[in-house]
Amino acid sequence: MSTLMRKTLLGMSKNQTMERIVKRLGPYLGTRRFVPGEQIEDAIARIKELNAEGVMATVDHLGEFVTSRSEAEAATEQALLTLKALDASGVESYLSVKLTQLGLDLDERFCEHNMRRILDEARKLGRFVRIDIEDYARNEKTLALFERLIQDFGHETIGLALQSYLYKTEADLKRLSVWAPNIRFVKGAYQESREVAFSDKKDVDQHYIRLVESHLLAGHYAAIATHDLAIIETLKSFVNSHGIPRTQFEFQMLYGIRSMSLLDLARQGYRTRVYIPYGDDWYGYYMRRLAERPENVMFIVKSWFKR
Ligand SMILES: Cc1cc2nc3c(=O)[nH]c(=O)nc-3n(C[C@H](O)[C@H](O)[C@H](O)COP(=O)(O)OP(=O)(O)OC[C@H]3O[C@@H](n4cnc5c(N)ncnc54)[C@H](O)[C@@H]3O)c2cc1C
Repeated sequence: MSTLMRKTLLGMSKNQTMERIVKRLGPYLGTRRFVPGEQIEDAIARIKELNAEGVMATVDHLGEFVTSRSEAEAATEQALLTLKALDASGVESYLSVKLTQLGLDLDERFCEHNMRRILDEARKLGRFVRIDIEDYARNEKTLALFERLIQDFGHETIGLALQSYLYKTEADLKRLSVWAPNIRFVKGAYQESREVAFSDKKDVDQHYIRLVESHLLAGHYAAIATHDLAIIETLKSFVNSHGIPRTQFEFQMLYGIRSMSLLDLARQGYRTRVYIPYGDDWYGYYMRRLAERPENVMFIVKSWFKR
């Protein structure tokens, strides 16, 4: 049942008619649980609260799969404004971006140009930018672009996320390791076929642990982005037994999910970071969060009856 629900929700996440309907229902859907607001000020207010608890942030101005150059240019301007706002407020946060928001599907060179503008600004301000990893159809293009950018900007300014549900990620990690990259490890949030991705959760989880361990043993920085407490415990034991310094990794979670667990990790002295999305283009992001835990749909329905 939950597999079917997951597939349905992920299918809906790319359907434009559903998007129009669901967006009209926004106020009744509990979107604020996952997206604190539409303005950068909303995100910065949350970051200040988190920073006060010893937790860092990464901000994402919501949007993906744009279909016109003007939308991609507007998204680039917004990313630049976001970097400037983070800098002006002095908060401990970097930026996350999606390449399909910056025009990857329209023209790779145009997308690269937009990314270079963002990275120039980030480097000037001493901030880091991470490329989120999207669906399999864009995976190879994303990696190729990342390789071109890290050559020029280095791992202090740019990082990438990789998905453990894809078979290819182990080989990709080896290929990228010459750049000593800062990688965010995630399980993967899109609907993919068995030809390219593990379908069994056990395989995805084991692959996740293997990837993080090999990356840490190679001496590179890992952002361990998961709400899976069993994986977190396994990796805590691994770093202890292998003497990996706490400065070589951090734990990351999404805004609104398992926040108490992340606070606990921060209190235990681990580096921690919350991914905070903001903006009005929340549909795809929100549907993926529902798909990760279909019980979330039931919580929303129950909350309607409590009104
Ligand atoms: C910081 C961060 C950045 C990410 N960036 C990307 C990216 O760039 N590309 C990408 O494809 N994916 C990304 N993801 C999403 C990721 O791929 C997974 O879809 C998501 O994190 C759920 O997997 P999990 O590792 O938490 O493990 P799971 O096994 O799915 O979940 C473990 C437990 O966490 C809780 N949980 C998980 N998800 C939810 C939820 N939505 N609502 C309520 N509880 C939940 C549940 O209790 C669940 O049992 C990111 C995730 C994080 C934390």
